[in-house]
Amino acid sequence: MVKAEGVHKSFGAAHILKGIDLEVAPREVFCLIGPSGSGKSTFLRCINHLEQLSAGRLYVDGELVGYRQKGDKLYELKDSEVALKRRDIGMVFQRFNLFPHMTAIENVMEAPVQVKHESKAVARARAEKLLDRVGLGDKAKNYPSQLSGGQQQRVAIARALAMEPKLMLFDEPTSALDPELVGDVLDVMRGLAEDGMTMIVVTHEMGFAREVGDALVFMDDGVVVESGHPRDVLTNPQHDRTKSFLSKVL
Ligand code: ATP
Ligand code: MG
Repeated sequence: MVKAEGVHKSFGAAHILKGIDLEVAPREVFCLIGPSGSGKSTFLRCINHLEQLSAGRLYVDGELVGYRQKGDKLYELKDSEVALKRRDIGMVFQRFNLFPHMTAIENVMEAPVQVKHESKAVARARAEKLLDRVGLGDKAKNYPSQLSGGQQQRVAIARALAMEPKLMLFDEPTSALDPELVGDVLDVMRGLAEDGMTMIVVTHEMGFAREVGDALVFMDDGVVVESGHPRDVLTNPQHDRTKSFLSKVL
């Protein structure tokens, strides 16, 4: 579903991603861990067309990110083409950036109506189902300010799902939450995994990675240091950098 080949990203003179190679299979829960500043968010942003690669290639669902290939030549995608591809990728951030002036259900309906030009009735019916699915069927008319952080984050997940994405990217979705609210969000993510959604999850929740993850990558300083099945990497890390990182977070 996602394939990275020698992905590099620099911001000016700062070389952040230094040749990332990895592959995420369809229906896989792919966990990405690593110290602050190692490039995890930058990598997710590259997948979601929010950053342009400096070198290398990235594929989502078999299609090159950012370019169209014709013979040997690559052509940069137009903004409208990028917008179409981004519809297929849902992203959930650390901060639940819901639209504050819209209710929960209006937040979930917004993109299908505005971007896909769906009728409000169709969008509303799907949004109701999605809010039920994240356990918030009774909060549809609440504004974000009337919801807890964990509830807001579950609305954010429902909002991303409303576009029926092929791939969901999660960037530390629980790290801004009070500890007692983390479980409900992880439960929603676990349910998504059971339904077969392909997910890339940047997280510090090692319990989630171990129980739900199919693959785990430890990234440091812009490179993949170690990867494998979460159980293996977490219980029997091979590299000193992985061991040292895990000793701080486990
Ligand atoms: P964290 O765990 O703290 O979220 P991270 O692994 O997600 O860290 P990134 O956010 O990808 O790390 O950042 C990696 C490096 O890239 C950091 O040093 C950051 O300052 C730098 N960086 C990210 N975006 C930009 C930008 N737009 N311009 C310049 N530097 C940037
Ligand atoms: Mg980050």
